[in-house]
Amino acid sequence: MPTIIEPFRIHSVEPLRITTAEERHAAIAAAGYNLFAVHSDDVLIDLLTDSGTGAMSSEQWAGIQRGNEAYAGSPSWYRFEAAVKALFPFRHVIPTHQGRAAEKILMAVIGGPGRIIPNNTHFDTTRANIEATGAEAVDLVIPEGLDPALEHPFKGNMDLARLDALLRERRADIPAVFVTITNNSGGGQPVSLENLRGVRALCDRHQVPLFLDACRFAENAWFIREREPGQGGREVAEIVREIASLADGMTMSAKKDGLANIGGWLAMHDDALAASCRNLLILTEGFPTYGGLAGRDLDAIAQGLVEVVQHDYLRYRIRSTGYLGDGLHAAGIPTMRPVGGHAVYIDARRMLPHIPPLQYPGQALAVALYEAGGIRSCEIGTVMFGRRPDGSEQPAALDLVRLAIPRRTYTQSHIDYVIEVCAEVAARSAGLGGYRITEEPAALRHFTARFEPLQG
Ligand SMILES: *Cc1c(COP(=O)(O)O)cnc(C)c1O
Repeated sequence: MPTIIEPFRIHSVEPLRITTAEERHAAIAAAGYNLFAVHSDDVLIDLLTDSGTGAMSSEQWAGIQRGNEAYAGSPSWYRFEAAVKALFPFRHVIPTHQGRAAEKILMAVIGGPGRIIPNNTHFDTTRANIEATGAEAVDLVIPEGLDPALEHPFKGNMDLARLDALLRERRADIPAVFVTITNNSGGGQPVSLENLRGVRALCDRHQVPLFLDACRFAENAWFIREREPGQGGREVAEIVREIASLADGMTMSAKKDGLANIGGWLAMHDDALAASCRNLLILTEGFPTYGGLAGRDLDAIAQGLVEVVQHDYLRYRIRSTGYLGDGLHAAGIPTMRPVGGHAVYIDARRMLPHIPPLQYPGQALAVALYEAGGIRSCEIGTVMFGRRPDGSEQPAALDLVRLAIPRRTYTQSHIDYVIEVCAEVAARSAGLGGYRITEEPAALRHFTARFEPLQG
């Protein structure tokens, strides 16, 4: 049958509160026009992030009951460690309460002033954790990855020539190369196995360790299976193990392809590096067999890792994101193509060409989608990336609005509604105005900045 259905049925429901346009206007103004500051009860369809917002399965809830809260050496820890190593057989697995905790610990050990860490595109927390140590974060995605409308099967790929040039020039200052799968800040676009092998070869030649930011490893592996020549017959779990075999370590947020609401880990082969990281872990996260998580969380993640590589799940997951992207595309709304794994990215700069980047077209669109239909999205553009460490401002490479799809949470009619709201806003987009920032912190400003509309 042509329809790809949700491979589950609903077991427990959460009511949604339908708000009026007046309520939404008041709520977003009170929030300083920052969607992160809106009470989520005032949101109808919450596409702010796919991080930790998914629905757990009945087996994961059973895992929550099975959770054992022993401080050290809990059976939940051994189940978690075995589930991670079944896909990522790194010698050391270090649990953390979420992805950025893994980043913070690793960067504290390998970062520092004068260091430089390349990636296809650093995620915001990765970049911030690198810059917080005084090191420099460099993005080296292929040029195709920066052209939103261009169709290319692996727009997350690393630009190997530029990586090679950087390694030749700055090898002594580069403690590790990162690759983010899928490339979240670059549109949720996948990285091919061939490209990962190319990065590995360069890391071997220059003797630099390769780390994965593997938050969406299963979605990336599904795209490899679907799009990369010769990969179509393979099990996703087998592709994931091959990806792992190309790297020396990883950071992970289990709030994404861990199918859990909290959690993460850091993993690596290197014994000395692992010892340094565990010492920091004990300082800030907890003992190395729980790392800031409850035993029950470790069990939920262990089961999530079994479910996330199932083909029926991934076929549905990738198709349901594609359904939203295709609907917006058909409505004439400029989106990043092809559709990514976990989200659809609207090209706000192209949709609102009358709003200059430093007046935040992405923020203007995100606010309009909320006011029009109670949809919460996330600006990924000049608000998120425009502030430099010295406090100056410059336009980000792209001004996107991300509609991230929580895993196993919304139905097709919810998504049809989202498409209708976006089309309604697009029809009157010439009337939308820009914003200015009235208050902002020094780093990761998009979370807490306050805004003001530039025109009434
Ligand atoms: C979410 C994310 C992180 C950070 O993980 P948290 O669990 O949110 O701290 C890092 N990298 C990428 C690519 C992500 O998507």
